[in-house]
Amino acid sequence: MTLQIHQFPCLSDNYGFLIHDEETQTTAAIDTPDPNAILNELHEKQWNLTHIFNTHHHFDHTGGNETLKEKTNCQIYGPQAEKSRIPLIDHPLSEGDTAKLGNFEATILEVPGHTAGHIAYHFAKEKILFVGDTLFVMGCGRLFEGTAEQMWQSLSKLRRLPDETIVYCAHEYSAANAAFALSLTPNDEAVRSRKTAIDAARAKNMPTVPTRMDWEKAANPFLRADSASLAQALHMTGAAPTEIFAETRRRKDSF
Ligand code: ZN
Ligand code: FE
Repeated sequence: MTLQIHQFPCLSDNYGFLIHDEETQTTAAIDTPDPNAILNELHEKQWNLTHIFNTHHHFDHTGGNETLKEKTNCQIYGPQAEKSRIPLIDHPLSEGDTAKLGNFEATILEVPGHTAGHIAYHFAKEKILFVGDTLFVMGCGRLFEGTAEQMWQSLSKLRRLPDETIVYCAHEYSAANAAFALSLTPNDEAVRSRKTAIDAARAKNMPTVPTRMDWEKAANPFLRADSASLAQALHMTGAAPTEIFAETRRRKDSF
């Protein structure tokens, strides 16, 4: 029994995801960037939408809620802390809650920073993680509503999940993130080889999502704010990881 995952591009640089349990014929959309694209993919797969799992309130993640609810009468799950901003939410979720899709079950991780109530959906048995705009390939979400300390704690929580966890991010930002990472640590072999692989994939218009937690731990500067090499690169040896994280995020904002 496997959780089927169908990924497709939406809007300018978002990914849509449909996840499906064949036995119970249940299907969830992870966020709703583009309702028409999602309806087309459902039609193509011959899947009926039964659930929406929202990660945070931004419009490119919830903009399709109303249309999809109207067309399919699906149940909508999302962060308790943002429930007033998630259109038509039925099931508000907090840390440690579970969201079921047929035979499968996600545990909710609260990962504030990009927004104040952002959540991730962790299918622990399958080692699959949907992170929305918290963690990207070689990057992380901008701090729109949270502090650097909050985001560093959120990323540290994700980093503690098993190395082989498959990570689905909501945007294709990898090429720009890789260029930034290499600018920080030009001699880092893990960063350099990852950038080469990303550039090769993007040259063929291939997605770089999903990624793996161990790949991110090796080459994502935002998961390495407590590494000696990043501290040294920033001339911040001895500084607290939160300070190093904050400086890295600041530099990326103006890269
Ligand atoms: Zn967002
Ligand atoms: Fe987004």
